[in-house]
Amino acid sequence: MVELTPSLFDLQFNVAGLLKGPVGGLREYDVTVAAEELDRLDEAFHITVPLNGHVRFIRASNTILTHFRGTTSVLLECGRCLDPFEAVLELEFEEEFHPSIDIVTGRPLADVGDDAALVIDAHHILDLSEIMRQAIWLAMPLIPICRPDCAGLCPVCGANRNHESCTCELDEIDARWANLQRLISNW
Ligand SMILES: [Zn+2]
Ligand SMILES: [Zn+2]
Repeated sequence: MVELTPSLFDLQFNVAGLLKGPVGGLREYDVTVAAEELDRLDEAFHITVPLNGHVRFIRASNTILTHFRGTTSVLLECGRCLDPFEAVLELEFEEEFHPSIDIVTGRPLADVGDDAALVIDAHHILDLSEIMRQAIWLAMPLIPICRPDCAGLCPVCGANRNHESCTCELDEIDARWANLQRLISNW
């Protein structure tokens, strides 16, 4: 069974007024969602600070155009040294949401597109929860690195080179020098 993304109250917007208004109508809101609320969107999330952002809705002829921009932070594991670290995520998306009910007649609308996450419900609630979950995934680095100069783990002894030094690296260099020495002496 597919798990449904929970709907977060702070990411739900009633767009009835916008749908009743003229094409081109605009609504803008500041968006704040607590870290523990955002964590509910996906089991894999470890959000560390509240989401702060801004959303803009524009009434198009048959849809609501949505633009969101915001930031939050997640806890990730460094791909080099395996230490946990906090990564700032810049979130931005543009989506087109489809009403499921005709605001004037109250009748169901046939054309709601093919993405259930982009359907405005029968109570004219536009829910950004699933789209936000996807945006958070997309904003995460493919290979998380705690800092650009992370020294990583020693492949020989497993020591975290950011915190401790080991002699393995020196031995490797010594071995390379020895090879070079041999080359030179064979000349
Ligand atoms: Zn690292
Ligand atoms: Zn080592």
